[in-house]
Amino acid sequence: IFLKILEPCDFSRGRFRIENFIESSKYAQNLFKIQNEIVQNVKDESLAENVPIITDEVLNYMIFTAKNMKAGNILEIGTATGYSGLFLARVANENGGFLTTMEIDEKRYGKAVENFKKLGLFEKNRMILGDALEEIPRLDKGIKYDFIFIDASKGQYLKFFEMSYELLNENGIIFIDNLMFRGLVAVKKEEIPKRYKTIVKRLKEFIEKLNEEYNFVLLPFGDGVGIVKK
Ligand code: SAH
Ligand code: MG
Repeated sequence: IFLKILEPCDFSRGRFRIENFIESSKYAQNLFKIQNEIVQNVKDESLAENVPIITDEVLNYMIFTAKNMKAGNILEIGTATGYSGLFLARVANENGGFLTTMEIDEKRYGKAVENFKKLGLFEKNRMILGDALEEIPRLDKGIKYDFIFIDASKGQYLKFFEMSYELLNENGIIFIDNLMFRGLVAVKKEEIPKRYKTIVKRLKEFIEKLNEEYNFVLLPFGDGVGIVKK
């Protein structure tokens, strides 16, 4: 009994240390050596307002992946305040492409535009205010993407995925955040809070489909990261 109580505590403390250690490595942040303070402010402000921005461990891995595949055009679904988008835009622009990012919430979109402007990224990229379910089909079918980041409402992940897969280049990657929803996809049905039951069910069906029909891997770090390579 004692061990059962202690284990999770030790584990979470260990994770806390790991996350701090990763943050101090600042892989992704190195993209903004001179403007680092501005980026840090975007992060601090977003966290203070409880905007669910990407964690450092996932950000570092995502940028590592996008940079190494020399991703040109990048699509992001779920801009929020633009934190993850700043990094993706920088990678895209360094590789001769641009970021297209979508946000449904007007206030967050406004903040994101402001943040992109501060870093000189607004002109070179495309920020769209609207529902991605309507906006993805409106995108120019002639433009394909090397890297797509899905990070919006989890209940719609399958739709976002299917719509954007068509726009993905051969060898391109779709990177999906929060796929394990705080571990809820892995627990018994009875343990899932009522209000999350539908979302968890949809996420599990989505994961199953990805496993069966796509070139897919599920990585159990952060909030669960899914990667599909075309
Ligand atoms: N990628 C951001 C965090 C995104 S949080 C970062 O890491 O910095 C998820 C965002 O998706 C929220 O701001 C939410 O308003 C937005 N969103 C949810 N459903 C959406 C939809 N259907 N279309 C566009 N944006 C959506
Ligand atoms: Mg996320």
